Amino acid sequence: MRILLLSDIHSNLEAFDACLAAAPPHDLVVNLGDTVGYGGNPNEVIARARELGKVFVRGNHDRAVSGLMDLEDFNPVAGLATLWTRDQLTRANLDWLRSLPQGPIRLDEFPGIQFVHGSALDEDEYMVSVRDAIEPLITNPVPVTFFGHTHLQGGFMLQGEISEAYRPGYRTIGRPESSDWPLRKDVRYLVNPGSVGQPRDGDWRAAFAIFDTDAWVVTFYRVPYNLRVAQEKILAAKLPPRLATRLATGR
Ligand code: ZN
Repeated sequence: MRILLLSDIHSNLEAFDACLAAAPPHDLVVNLGDTVGYGGNPNEVIARARELGKVFVRGNHDRAVSGLMDLEDFNPVAGLATLWTRDQLTRANLDWLRSLPQGPIRLDEFPGIQFVHGSALDEDEYMVSVRDAIEPLITNPVPVTFFGHTHLQGGFMLQGEISEAYRPGYRTIGRPESSDWPLRKDVRYLVNPGSVGQPRDGDWRAAFAIFDTDAWVVTFYRVPYNLRVAQEKILAAKLPPRLATRLATGR
């Protein structure tokens, strides 16, 4: 079976559409959270995400927009985007966001993997460095954890006492590309498919991944999308312009 892993779409419809168009055939879609926040199409992105399947983990933006979390921990730009998004969303979409489950999510048909937003220990934790990843790696009972939240495509592994970071290797910046990460059964992993709609790893292309549960291989993808249209929607909505400009640099 092949699982399409999406995370941190952040209301970016153009990036989301580009990922769906580029994704190879798959059997299941799992969304690791932050479907909304930052971008210009929150209702449209929720509608499309819900059409794709039922497996979701809630993100911090999903909680903030739907009133489950106060905005104290958000910077002013994220806070403004949250208030704007809350104002745009239909009541049905707000209710749906509020109903999303907290991770970790495990599925009976796929033993050995689980899904979280931040980490299995704390849904708001940012696993950016190996140091951040060590405790979740050591304490996880599950070999492979898929996570989001950092908007950095790649992951971490723990083999015996050794933990390391992993980043997919790409050659270009403007074209679609993919990169395979074959996993070993005796190694523990944390895997981030990257952010669909707000990449922050210096590559502006939309990110996602496919996990083949038979071959135990993660394939990371990066796809260009219609950046200008996504930026124009942010500016037309009078959202902070920084949310539009940073899309171009992937920072
Ligand atoms: Zn996010």
